[in-house]
Amino acid sequence: MEKGILEEVKKLVVDTNCPVESRVIAEKICNGARITSEEGLWLYEHGELGWLGMLAELIRHQLHGNHVYFIRNFHIEPTNICINKCRFCSFSHHFSQTHWELTVDEILEKVCEQPEDMQEIHITGAVHPDRDLYYYGDILKQIREIRPGLHMKAYSAVEMDHMIRQAGLTIEDGLKYLKECGLGSIPGGGAEIFDETIRSDIAGMKSSSEMWLEIHEKAHRLGISSNATMLYGHLETYTHRIDHMDRLRHLQDKTKGFNAFIPLKFKNWNNEMAQLPELPVVEDMRNYAVARIYLDNIPHLKAYWPAIGKKNAQLTLSFGVDDMDGTINDSTKIYSLAGAEEQSPRFTVSEMQEFIHQVKRIPVERDSRYNPL
Ligand code: SF4
Repeated sequence: MEKGILEEVKKLVVDTNCPVESRVIAEKICNGARITSEEGLWLYEHGELGWLGMLAELIRHQLHGNHVYFIRNFHIEPTNICINKCRFCSFSHHFSQTHWELTVDEILEKVCEQPEDMQEIHITGAVHPDRDLYYYGDILKQIREIRPGLHMKAYSAVEMDHMIRQAGLTIEDGLKYLKECGLGSIPGGGAEIFDETIRSDIAGMKSSSEMWLEIHEKAHRLGISSNATMLYGHLETYTHRIDHMDRLRHLQDKTKGFNAFIPLKFKNWNNEMAQLPELPVVEDMRNYAVARIYLDNIPHLKAYWPAIGKKNAQLTLSFGVDDMDGTINDSTKIYSLAGAEEQSPRFTVSEMQEFIHQVKRIPVERDSRYNPL
């Protein structure tokens, strides 16, 4: 966006013919001020989609110019055997047609198969009943030995809660141990929706919202950055989404440890909530735009394309998104088991660059700390 166009957009979003609420919100955003939770809710309930997109794009442009980030990455999912039984889950052995428990050797073999220029490994899976902190720490140590330059983003807060308790350590000591083993950062999974009533309905056996937030806060204080997710499009309301983002915004004010926020869409295939319809794409775009506007202190908004499909992910680039996650290399089953259209999620670097060029933006290959490469 050129500077002149930016000024024009500012005038458009503060249109005097708009409802007074939208004018007040637009003026705040143009002046870099924070909106309230009531205003966030108003955006969800009354904001016109094109206008929301313009507001989100203004913020995205001020933060990142025309850059869209991506990384060369791959996933390892050590197991889908799970002690929990979340009703929205299509991944765990409870609902999936398949189950697996990779050995450490099998994990290392998968790491060795990856090209040398991989930047990041993302390790998450189910909450296995018997595997503890030392088992998972050993995986990190052995990967570090064979690929010392690889950034290890590993284990959701829900996995950590269990493995650290199994080892009888405090959260802080467990995190310190994983850091010594080579943990680089923490993925955002397991946040689901923080509202306690909805959470107990859809994921009653899972770690509490309070524990999720505590683990991320303690990690940030130890210098371990992380991401945050929100599972949307199931039983929650707009109020629950604002509450979720508000708890994240509050924590981020204290620690500044979140790199990216990642909305994750509920998929209704092969799980206990399969009777619920999936949200239409316009609701996805509304959600991305409101997230970009509301979470003014989390630098990056990520479209996790294996979940929403490549075409919809490309559309999010007009609704505040600046990060396309990574090349993935057909290494995750979490969303393909839930019926996502990307059954073998993979981008080559040149395909990713072309994909971003198609919307007239500049692809920037990054490392795990968002340094351009
Ligand atoms: S969402 Fe995660 S914790 Fe819940 S059942 Fe599935 S794998 Fe287990």
